[in-house]
Amino acid sequence: MSLKILTEHCNTTGIETFEVYRKKGGYTAVEKALKKMTPDEVVEEVKKSGVRGRGGAGFPMGMKWSFLAKPEGVPRYLVCNADESEPGTFKDHYLMKTIPHLLVEGMIISSYALGANKSFIYVRGELMYVVRILEKAIEEAKAAGFLGKNILGSGYDLELVVQPGGGAYICGEETALLESLEGKRGNPRNKPPFPAVKGLYQSPTVVNNVESISTVSWIINNGGEAYAAVGVGKSTGTKLISASGHINKPGVYEIELGLSCDEFLNSDEYCGGVRTGHRLKAVVAGGSSVPIVPGTLFLKNANGEDRLMSYESLSDGGFATGTMLGSGGFIVFDETACIVRNTWNFSRFYEHESCGQCSPCREGTGWMQKVLNRIEHGKGSMSDIDLLVDVSKKIEGNTICPLGDAASWPVASAIRHFRDEFEWHIKHPNEAIKPGAVYPGA
Ligand code: NAD
Ligand code: SF4
Repeated sequence: MSLKILTEHCNTTGIETFEVYRKKGGYTAVEKALKKMTPDEVVEEVKKSGVRGRGGAGFPMGMKWSFLAKPEGVPRYLVCNADESEPGTFKDHYLMKTIPHLLVEGMIISSYALGANKSFIYVRGELMYVVRILEKAIEEAKAAGFLGKNILGSGYDLELVVQPGGGAYICGEETALLESLEGKRGNPRNKPPFPAVKGLYQSPTVVNNVESISTVSWIINNGGEAYAAVGVGKSTGTKLISASGHINKPGVYEIELGLSCDEFLNSDEYCGGVRTGHRLKAVVAGGSSVPIVPGTLFLKNANGEDRLMSYESLSDGGFATGTMLGSGGFIVFDETACIVRNTWNFSRFYEHESCGQCSPCREGTGWMQKVLNRIEHGKGSMSDIDLLVDVSKKIEGNTICPLGDAASWPVASAIRHFRDEFEWHIKHPNEAIKPGAVYPGA
């Protein structure tokens, strides 16, 4: 049984309440940080832990904290990105609804470390019931003296605000989120300046994901070095993976980074294998924005070595043969899945969610969606395949925010690894359009 840093108490009855959370050792990390540590000492522990941003980018959290500008007399903000919307990703949702005080406690310690006196949790608009759960947790923490003025007599004040979004995927991009929080349309900003220098209301701001902030209590209680001792190489600690698709046991799993991909997919502790009677075809390892790979390349890299669930191992081989850990949105496809249809489906999503600010993304996502639509519906031509590759290359790297890359990578990788399947659709349109039709060579 592997170490559970975030989910140890998730099955305890009543853990969503302050009373039970406190009985299980909750808020002791706030006491330790505010009574015995300086803000810089808290930052130092998080740096030592090596924990990387769990929203998808994997940027070292302690380093991000240390980039925060501290001009005299200017407020600083901590904003929790709880706008989880990446297709296949539902681990923050699970954490917030199950054990909301873990996030509240992490927010208090992190805000203290960063010198923020007003912090925000920006929650995906579709999750209004989670907003209520968090608001209740905040009320309970405040009533117990862990929020508000002069917390635990330390002289430190913190107001914590929960803000629901409007349900747009783009508001999960940190600068679009800040625009939305300011009451404007959620259009991403050009970076630099990064939020650490000019963020919310043009003030220095740290934006961290729910899972990232939820690790902080454990790090403070156990020390950064203890966290760094878990995992492999620069992939320290544990990671929540939301597993879905053609597996026997879909769900949210906490793994120690460095677990073998084979064990994650096939052992009963986790996914329980590809659904019974079927075989592995393809995997999206880290949410719809990362490259899709054939099952064989998910399990072993191009040199035949076992792949591990880590930032480095999954991306080994680059985009030619690798993928990414991303947000941990793990989707499995067996031989009954149609890659063309799935790629078209993802591209519809990105076209719909593009904010439209930059032309490569605005025009390119719509263009790819239309071409994929005609291939899927038996009206494609062979030149459409190279056209898709060309359009995806013209989007990648040429946009304000990563949504453009996120839209192009699934298309480019699907063609790279499953070109035969696209060709079969074009050569056999009458077969391909039958309901449930799949490439017979799969
Ligand atoms: P990024 O690599 O541009 O930035 C990562 C973080 O580091 C940001 O907070 C950024 O401000 C900070 N940063 C980077 N360089 C910095 C510097 N020099 N100074 C100060 N701060 C710096 O990536 P991103 O745009 O934050 O995130 C993209 C990722 O989001 C994708 O990989 C995707 O997997 C993921 N994603 C997740 C979801 C979800 O629902 N969880 C949805 C969409 C996308
Ligand atoms: Fe908007 Fe797309 Fe440009 Fe991002 S890449 S700013 S979503 S148009």
